[in-house]
Amino acid sequence: MVRINQNYLKLQGSYLFSTIAKKVAAYSKDNPEVEIIRLGIGDVTQPIVPAVIEALHGAVDEMGAKETFRGYAPDLGYEFLRNTIAKNDYEKRGCDITPEEIFVSDGAKSDCANIQEIFDADCSIAVCDPVYPVYVDSNVMAGRAGDYDEVAGQYNKVIYMPCTKENGFVPEFPREVPDLIYLCFPNNPTGTVIHKAQLQDWVDYARKNGSIILYDSAYEAFITEDDVPHSIYECEGARECAIEFRSFSKTAGFTGLRLGYTVIPKDLKAGGEDVWPLWARRHGTKYNGAPYIIQRAGEAVYSEAGQEQVHEQIAWYLGNAKIISEGLAAAGFEVYGGKNAPYVWMSVPKGLTSWEFFDQLLTKAGVVGTPGSGFGPHGEGYLRLSSFGDREATKKAIERIKNML
Ligand code: PLP
Repeated sequence: MVRINQNYLKLQGSYLFSTIAKKVAAYSKDNPEVEIIRLGIGDVTQPIVPAVIEALHGAVDEMGAKETFRGYAPDLGYEFLRNTIAKNDYEKRGCDITPEEIFVSDGAKSDCANIQEIFDADCSIAVCDPVYPVYVDSNVMAGRAGDYDEVAGQYNKVIYMPCTKENGFVPEFPREVPDLIYLCFPNNPTGTVIHKAQLQDWVDYARKNGSIILYDSAYEAFITEDDVPHSIYECEGARECAIEFRSFSKTAGFTGLRLGYTVIPKDLKAGGEDVWPLWARRHGTKYNGAPYIIQRAGEAVYSEAGQEQVHEQIAWYLGNAKIISEGLAAAGFEVYGGKNAPYVWMSVPKGLTSWEFFDQLLTKAGVVGTPGSGFGPHGEGYLRLSSFGDREATKKAIERIKNML
């Protein structure tokens, strides 16, 4: 008899976003006159910048001519893109990463989810709490997370590292040393960052203990402050203990185009084995490459015009984040994030849970946020607001929140 992978039965339903969608739909149905403002989403809303559109058109035309047509892309990505990434994202920041160590993909989500495959099923994993759910769920599917404890809201074999206002939303070293450590900065959902010295401490910890850090820097383009590392390879020794994930989704609005990359330094070993060839082998077997036209679009992000245009767009989103942060702070809320990330993490009024405040925001202000508890138990008491919305709607949402108090 065919049996399914039993680990899939341990996955919790996608409770968070489906519950939000249901609540918003029910409220809209009963109150069709209310204009709902959605600040819950983590998707971009501004169009692709002109320099990238031009490159897309050019690449499409190439596909229509016999001399310039391209079929399958090279397994690890076109050299033109890998060279550009190595030069702009690493060499310019003083990081020693070669084009060969860059694996081009269709985005960071699939890479963060798939990377665990090349490690032993018995490896222990540590994640931040609250957390981007993909790291946990991909390990649940692989049977590494153990059983779900309904009361704790956690899997019993995952090491959760609380990120709270007391520790500045940067986790402390856990009591038990993990094999794989997922870190994401600038962080989703809290919008907060790690400083260079703190990240260096994590790198030193990983090297001392033989752990590997899986570093998700999908939001690095939003960093505005000095002393906040854009890459983990800015830290000494990271080549020996870290894998980094990057995405064009939030950097250049590619959520619908799909492009990202993963860096695996050749120095990285796990239990004495080189990791690079294993990911190369996996990539070659299970993946046929990001489309040529999209890789050309990615290359255009690094052109002079592309850089200017995407930075302008990011600054615009950060302008929304400022409106949200300053407005809420003036109304008496504690607010975090929003300076180096597109997310603002706000405390909910005392005595309310994240979900209760979500309901109040929806019914009294017609504003949709994302309840912090949906990202993990330590997200309780917070709500995430996104700066990816429309400028006027964002302003209106903040006014409405102030007025509902
Ligand atoms: N990593 C984090 C922390 C994210 O928040 C997201 C998307 O929201 C991703 C990765 C996914 O990025 P991509 O669109 O490149 O798959």
